[in-house]
Amino acid sequence: MVFSHKKAQKAHRMNLTRAAENFFDAVLTLAYPQVCVICSRSVEQRRFGVACEACWKETRIFADDEEICWKCGVPGPACGRCAELAFTAARAVAIYDDGALRESVLLLKRQPYVPQHIESLLIAVVRRAPLSLSTRVVPVPLHPKRLRTRGFNQASIIARSVSNVLKLPLDEVSLVRVSTTEKYRAGMDAKGRRDTVAGAFQVTHPRLVAGENILLVDDVFTTGATVSACAETLLNAGANGVFVLTIGRAGAT
Ligand SMILES: [Zn+2]
Ligand SMILES: [Zn+2]
Repeated sequence: MVFSHKKAQKAHRMNLTRAAENFFDAVLTLAYPQVCVICSRSVEQRRFGVACEACWKETRIFADDEEICWKCGVPGPACGRCAELAFTAARAVAIYDDGALRESVLLLKRQPYVPQHIESLLIAVVRRAPLSLSTRVVPVPLHPKRLRTRGFNQASIIARSVSNVLKLPLDEVSLVRVSTTEKYRAGMDAKGRRDTVAGAFQVTHPRLVAGENILLVDDVFTTGATVSACAETLLNAGANGVFVLTIGRAGAT
């Protein structure tokens, strides 16, 4: 009885939140029409974030039946270049270069907010195999020093929104970054990049990740070196599998 009452209260609160959001959208559009960062037309719904619906329509999102490398998710057949990367599989919403997606990722570095449209696209990716096997959500951590200067970790913001919708436990404590090395030197090859991040992460609570299929979340997949280093650490700590989820990915590994 108490439980169902609480549930009803929660549903009520959620309806209020949604109503408030719609109201906020309307007021915001009237008071401060958001201009699309790509085409300068007006963005009429807050769910689309910084780009308008038309620009989102022009952004090519990976389809359900897209031909991709099963492991790293790059478009095309099995790429053969991702064999040394430690994660189980990686998936993204789309190629990072594509207009609305790129602008949204850039904004997320400055504002801790995932527009509803991106959230829906991410959820669709996680609901497909093999990411649908995930049991626990872990963001790629920032070094505490960097977190203090940046104010928030954009990977955590994405991870929170995915874990909320999918009702999967969010784990921001088990995996930590122990080295501040983040920027790769220009001209560094793939091995150099991997060496730079190898040993940058540690699992502080192995019991929490043991036997779990980790959904490892970041904003962009570029070379895969960072998520691979995280995955190696998680797998060494006893994780069963590591599935990488990012908003964008590079067009080639
Ligand atoms: Zn536009
Ligand atoms: Zn591949």
